[in-house]
Amino acid sequence: MVSNKDSAKLHKNEGIKAASQYLRGTILEGLADTSTGSISGDDSQLTKFHGIYLQDDRDLRKERLKAKLEKAFSFMVRIRVPGGVCTPQQWLHMDALADKYANGTLKLTTRQAYQIHGVLKRDLKASIAAINEGLLDTIAACGDVNRNVMCTANPEQSKLHATVSEHSKVLSNHLTPQTPAYHEIWLDGKLVAGGEPVEEPIYGKTYLPRKFKSAFVVPPYNDVDIFSQDLGFIAITDENGQLAGYNVAVGGGMGMTHNKTKTFPRLADIIGFITPDQMLPVAEAIVTTQRDHGDRTDRKHARLKYTIEDHGIEWFKKEVEQRSKITLQPKRPFTFKTTSDRYGWIQGTDGLWCLNLFILSGRVKDSEELKTKACLREIAKIHQGDFRLTANQNLVLGKITDADRPQIETILEEYGLLKSHHQSGLRLNSLSCVALPTCGLALAESERLLPNFVSALEKILEEVGLRDDAITLRITGCPNGCARPYLGEIGLVGRAPGKYNVYLGAGFDGMRLNKRYLEAKKVPEILEALEKIIRHYASDREQGEAFGNFVIRTGYVKATLAGRDFHEN
Ligand code: SF4
Repeated sequence: MVSNKDSAKLHKNEGIKAASQYLRGTILEGLADTSTGSISGDDSQLTKFHGIYLQDDRDLRKERLKAKLEKAFSFMVRIRVPGGVCTPQQWLHMDALADKYANGTLKLTTRQAYQIHGVLKRDLKASIAAINEGLLDTIAACGDVNRNVMCTANPEQSKLHATVSEHSKVLSNHLTPQTPAYHEIWLDGKLVAGGEPVEEPIYGKTYLPRKFKSAFVVPPYNDVDIFSQDLGFIAITDENGQLAGYNVAVGGGMGMTHNKTKTFPRLADIIGFITPDQMLPVAEAIVTTQRDHGDRTDRKHARLKYTIEDHGIEWFKKEVEQRSKITLQPKRPFTFKTTSDRYGWIQGTDGLWCLNLFILSGRVKDSEELKTKACLREIAKIHQGDFRLTANQNLVLGKITDADRPQIETILEEYGLLKSHHQSGLRLNSLSCVALPTCGLALAESERLLPNFVSALEKILEEVGLRDDAITLRITGCPNGCARPYLGEIGLVGRAPGKYNVYLGAGFDGMRLNKRYLEAKKVPEILEALEKIIRHYASDREQGEAFGNFVIRTGYVKATLAGRDFHEN
């Protein structure tokens, strides 16, 4: 299913996938090698498909090199949570696993998954088996496949959320790789050597050219940043508030490479409307079109967004219609208000309560000041509803009865978390990726920069009376864009240690990319520049004008109207 005619030009990862016997490679042999905490380069490409990244503690690199020791290797394990919904038992399970096998913290990711960091090679197999015992898994959490399918957390419209969330699980199941390698390697299935021949009916032997991300959203809340996805389903309701179907959005993606203008973030295009029963065939047609036409020679040009840019959106739509045998209807109207979460208590249409808690950078941990992890553990022990990981790295305690609410409030009060969302509008709308010390691609700090960076801006915002105004801030340690920085009204992207590019002017509703304003600046210079703009915003903004709109109206940056214009200043 490799479309590129000249196999000599294929990227080396295509060869690794093809020779891997459906993602087996030599992972098992590598795990058995106790002479190193690492695994081979080829296998580290394959373990990504199993949700596992080889990393090392970059803070210790120099010291280890000096002592002639190998890097401090460990693994990041990403656990899928389709639609972001899990049970209190699964929360407890993850809480215990983080202590037993990882660094004692849980990271709630921007794709509504869990991540645990610092898993040693000798514990890897046991940790994956333990994750599966909790009825969770890690397959396809990374790699060139469809990854964790997201769904808006939507605490208000209970029935609609249940339906759309269910569809996210159906899609997730449909697009999960079929290879038995995962069970063979991690769950002590037999085979492996050669493995049982398996048909990957959707992916084939070499899977997709690159990662593929999909999500469902229920307007007016765009909390999953639907236009940043390769494939997005925008729920459209009928006059009774029931699901009528979906607008289908294709070709979004955040990643780019500094100084390579042929790479750029792009927002998805809507190609039409479908009814709910058409969701799976249309999704499959989109995935297989990308499988067959995506660029397998250059991984920086391999995402669906470039396939669409190269072939044109009309060609793509036609291809999808032919493959699915479904004619897409004209897209239906909808409105997005915000990409933010709805913090605090919200009563659903079913009368049950949801509480949206704020978790800074999605890091669930216990510190001297705040014992978030212990608090959520106590709640999980008595909670009868669900836990919903949001795409903004937060947590919703869902489906709480009137009777259970006081008990949960008491625990939150005891741990100082009842007012977790009593924060500035900027902090509540901030995201950061992990970056240093564990991400091998990080060029600069992100999660460790965010708290002080936000505090510095908060001083200015308080002074000018904007403390409660929502402004979206996204920080990443490199241009890959894991925290969707190009959709931040303020976006910081790592350029070099201590230096960032600053992007301004994204839409607060997630419907416009930002534009570069500063290049490779240190944090003090960035704060100085932002202070001037914030003061200007406080004095000259129009009624209800969002920060992202203001910086465009007043000429700080030009509006980015399409991904290919992202680099044009
Ligand atoms: Fe790592 Fe870059 Fe992703 Fe941050 S954006 S986690 S630095 S790859």
